[in-house]
Amino acid sequence: MRKMDMRKSRRSFLKTAGMIGTGALLAGIPGRSEASEKKNMEGGIETRIPARPFGKTGVSVSMLSLGGVLDVSDQIVFRQAVNMGITYWDTAEGYQWGNNEKAIGKYFERFPEDREKIFLATKSGTSNPTMLMENLNQSLERMKTSYVDLFMIHHVSDAKEELTGEVRLWAEKMKANGTIRLFGFSTHKNMETCMIEGAQLGWIDGIMMSYNYRLMGQDRMKKAVEQCEKAGIGLTAMKTQAAFTAGFYSTIGSESDEALRMTDRFMKKGYTAEQAKLKAVWENKAIASICSAMPNMTILQANAAAALNQNELSLSDKHILNVYAQQTSSGYCAGCARICESAIGFSVPISDLFRHAMYKNSYGDRERAMSWFQLLPEETRSRIPRTDYSKAEMVCPQKIEIGKVIRKEYEAFIRPGEFV
Ligand code: SF4
Repeated sequence: MRKMDMRKSRRSFLKTAGMIGTGALLAGIPGRSEASEKKNMEGGIETRIPARPFGKTGVSVSMLSLGGVLDVSDQIVFRQAVNMGITYWDTAEGYQWGNNEKAIGKYFERFPEDREKIFLATKSGTSNPTMLMENLNQSLERMKTSYVDLFMIHHVSDAKEELTGEVRLWAEKMKANGTIRLFGFSTHKNMETCMIEGAQLGWIDGIMMSYNYRLMGQDRMKKAVEQCEKAGIGLTAMKTQAAFTAGFYSTIGSESDEALRMTDRFMKKGYTAEQAKLKAVWENKAIASICSAMPNMTILQANAAAALNQNELSLSDKHILNVYAQQTSSGYCAGCARICESAIGFSVPISDLFRHAMYKNSYGDRERAMSWFQLLPEETRSRIPRTDYSKAEMVCPQKIEIGKVIRKEYEAFIRPGEFV
């Protein structure tokens, strides 16, 4: 069974609009009457979120999907998501300690007719078939449904090791009995390798991966997307805002000069920098959907407005995003853990530590970061302050000052005074 360490919950703290940086609404969603519910166009203007093919599965999904941060009191957001055509909903057993799935269940209890409109995805943090079965049954119970459209193994970092023949047999059995329609995995770490290995397996229907303006231009990510596309795998992009992981930049309260300049530029063009980041991802037609945490109506509308805005980014818009990505690369961990961790003999999970830092610094969830850190084995934790990170720094493609960042996070937050 795989470790359940960092998969257990989600961002209940993402309740305030500014925190995930989606930005202000610059273009509203046209209102929807009952009569227009079934139409996608009104007066030549698209009013519902367009759908895209989910790989070669024969299924189409809304190009914007609702990420799992809502709880039972957020029924209005679910309702408006349906009205807007945001009909791909993503959750996981651990999001909000199961409360996000319960919130979806509450919605389906109230609006059972909407179940068939929704492409419902959930995840389990194990690759043990017995545990998968148990977790799937619990998810179905919480969501008050008899099936899910996409079931994924959560947070895969080694596809060869985790997607075993046993898992394949289990997935095929569940598909045959109609409990799941499609099977796949999510990946935040070693994503490109996992995607390529997933494409080679031949039985993966969907992959959800970190993918954004920082990663999408890199050769290894281009190759991974291309291979998944050829294999007919439906791709869902997440972490599309590319929040800072390292502590020298913070998106809360103190925007960097680069961010301010970029925001000025895009505001003059009619959309926020955060909307531009979404549009950059959608420009790759191989991406079926962007999964976004949308904890309130403001963010829901801002993201929907970006999806409905048909204007393509200009070459100079893309150039600005690229320049910004380059100027701030040392603040973003790209999740290519094998590169840096192999350089230090896999003694410290650098990528995981940076993920903790991202939740603390960019999402403001200090408590979550601390709880994940405490799940690391004591032996691993004790190695953190004693490790020389210089070899890892030499190979890091993002040029992150790994030792400095880890020292700062560790001393200022985790265990003051222990670094040697
Ligand atoms: S620290 Fe650098 S090499 Fe390691 S995962 Fe992050 S970006 Fe990749």
